[in-house]
Amino acid sequence: MKWDGHTHGPYCRHGSDAPMVDYIDRAIDRGFERISLTEHPPLPDGWLEDQAVQRTLAMPRADLSSYLRDAWTAKERFADRIDVRVGLEVDFLYNNEQFTWNIFEQAHAFIEEVIVSVHFLPGIGGVRCIDLTSHDAATGLLAYYGSMERLVEIYFEHQEQAIQLAKTFPVPARLGHATLIDKFRRDLPAYDPLLRREHLQRIFSMLLENGLSLDVNTAGLSLSTCASMYPPPEDAASALAMGVPCVFGSDAHAPDAVGRHYETYEQLPSIASLPGDDAVD
Ligand SMILES: [Zn+2]
Ligand SMILES: [Zn+2]
Repeated sequence: MKWDGHTHGPYCRHGSDAPMVDYIDRAIDRGFERISLTEHPPLPDGWLEDQAVQRTLAMPRADLSSYLRDAWTAKERFADRIDVRVGLEVDFLYNNEQFTWNIFEQAHAFIEEVIVSVHFLPGIGGVRCIDLTSHDAATGLLAYYGSMERLVEIYFEHQEQAIQLAKTFPVPARLGHATLIDKFRRDLPAYDPLLRREHLQRIFSMLLENGLSLDVNTAGLSLSTCASMYPPPEDAASALAMGVPCVFGSDAHAPDAVGRHYETYEQLPSIASLPGDDAVD
């Protein structure tokens, strides 16, 4: 199954304004059989100290129902050409988990799947978004924790908590870009890759135990600050070898990025050696 499991669209406040159908058309052009629409849902009021930043990260609350309506319309319209999955990329909102539950209570009948992502950690001034800029990560997070090792530890702890929460969701969930903390790795101090490896092994075991899957996310490959997929290929291969269901994700924020780097994903050893990559179906 050629599937792009992680895409955004016009309801995203930090991507292209192109209509949803352009993303789906691009997926069809590139030979995909399935595309998941995984827009960022609203965030709690006052979640970030910097409200201007918050406004760029997520749709306003009033948009959620129109997003879901548009996505279902597209799903039906394209049903004979591609399987469109209607989803969300929900954030792990530590100490505010009820907010995500409220979204499900309101709308879970219209949500087919979710990606659960850790985009926020405690830092200087309160809640910080971890993937804005290298400078922001250095001054708002690294300065707060004092070392990359500590920052990485906290990041993985939050991912473990996110998994514990996601296993209770009323819809299938997969963990989003499990090494996003490395987005600015080339601009930040290096840390022992063994630390990442050990944490990822725990994360993969937890995904397996709890029936969740993993977003193998290629967006970092296009960034000069990262130049790697999330997680790195050797770790993604290890997840596949363990039997963790993996789903390719371009994390497209513009139509042209749909399916980007799929060929790199296909080259992962366990994908290449399998007769089909349909593990999650
Ligand atoms: Zn986004
Ligand atoms: Zn995303």
